Amino acid sequence: LLPLTLVLSALFILAALYWQKRKLSFQDELRRGITNNEFSVYYQPVYGTAAQRCTGAEALLRWRRADGQWIRPDVFIAAAEAENMIIPLTRHLLKLVEEDVASWHIEPNFHLGLNVSAEHLQDSEFIADIRQFAANVAAHRFLITLELTERSLISEGPEVAQRLQQLRQEGIHVAIDDFGTGHCSLSYLQSFPLDYLKIDQGFVRTISSQEEETPILDTIISLAHRLNLKIVAEGVETARQLHYLTQHDVGYIQGFLYAKPMDNENFTVWQHYHAKR
Ligand code: C2E
Ligand code: CA
Ligand code: CA
Ligand code: CA
Repeated sequence: LLPLTLVLSALFILAALYWQKRKLSFQDELRRGITNNEFSVYYQPVYGTAAQRCTGAEALLRWRRADGQWIRPDVFIAAAEAENMIIPLTRHLLKLVEEDVASWHIEPNFHLGLNVSAEHLQDSEFIADIRQFAANVAAHRFLITLELTERSLISEGPEVAQRLQQLRQEGIHVAIDDFGTGHCSLSYLQSFPLDYLKIDQGFVRTISSQEEETPILDTIISLAHRLNLKIVAEGVETARQLHYLTQHDVGYIQGFLYAKPMDNENFTVWQHYHAKR
């Protein structure tokens, strides 16, 4: 029995070492990706239903590795979050956006949406990072909106709410992203200062071509109205969805029907036709 136990332990240690190495190498890959400039930012326009034109855009990170392979954002974002790389990656994104906006020609008050992860929110440098970014793009007079998921708002302690309140006083907006998908209680809606609620595409998709009822979507919309939150509907793909949402006073629409995420070159051209008065 003893030799068998020894062999099994040796195998276990080898597996653990292999796993450790794999984990390390993904972190290295992310780091290398940053230094080799393999990341870029795509911009997805947001349509204002009242203004009937593009009123903003969301910045979405993209990773194309040196071998030409695209890594899906939900995959590398989750990995970066798991391996303590999301803060450096987000700082890199902010730098890329600063470079990109230099070529933009947009009206003041254009809404610029940035995704922020829970870990970054909880970091003491968070406010400084956002302030620095806001200062560096100040000439464009953007309305910066931080998009936070429900998960990031159920953190312990008052620090996160205080930080967000401080940034809001400096003109930065806060959106709750993927609303309704976080398996969270609704109590954070009372304790956090919010400006926007983004309805997840899963609920938007319930507006189908058949005239079926959409009770959950309708409830989310009226909840947002009651809380005085502006609403962004995500993943709008059909004219029927757009019509339904507009009829129900949803102020902002994002989805393939209006525009797909674009690289900076294409977005700069696109703006020329859609984002001006
Ligand atoms: P998200 O924040 O919910 O971003 C919206 C996602 O929906 C984007 O996916 C966008 O391409 C996709 N989308 C937009 N319109 C439509 C539509 O009409 N139909 C369909 N089927 N999809 C649509 P993407 O770019 O793949 O990003 C996935 C997620 O990765 C994002 O979800 C966000 O959670 C995360 N992510 C992306 N960039 C960043 C980032 O810079 N930082 C952080 N923390 N997360 C990011
Ligand atoms: Ca988002
Ligand atoms: Ca979302
Ligand atoms: Ca999402």
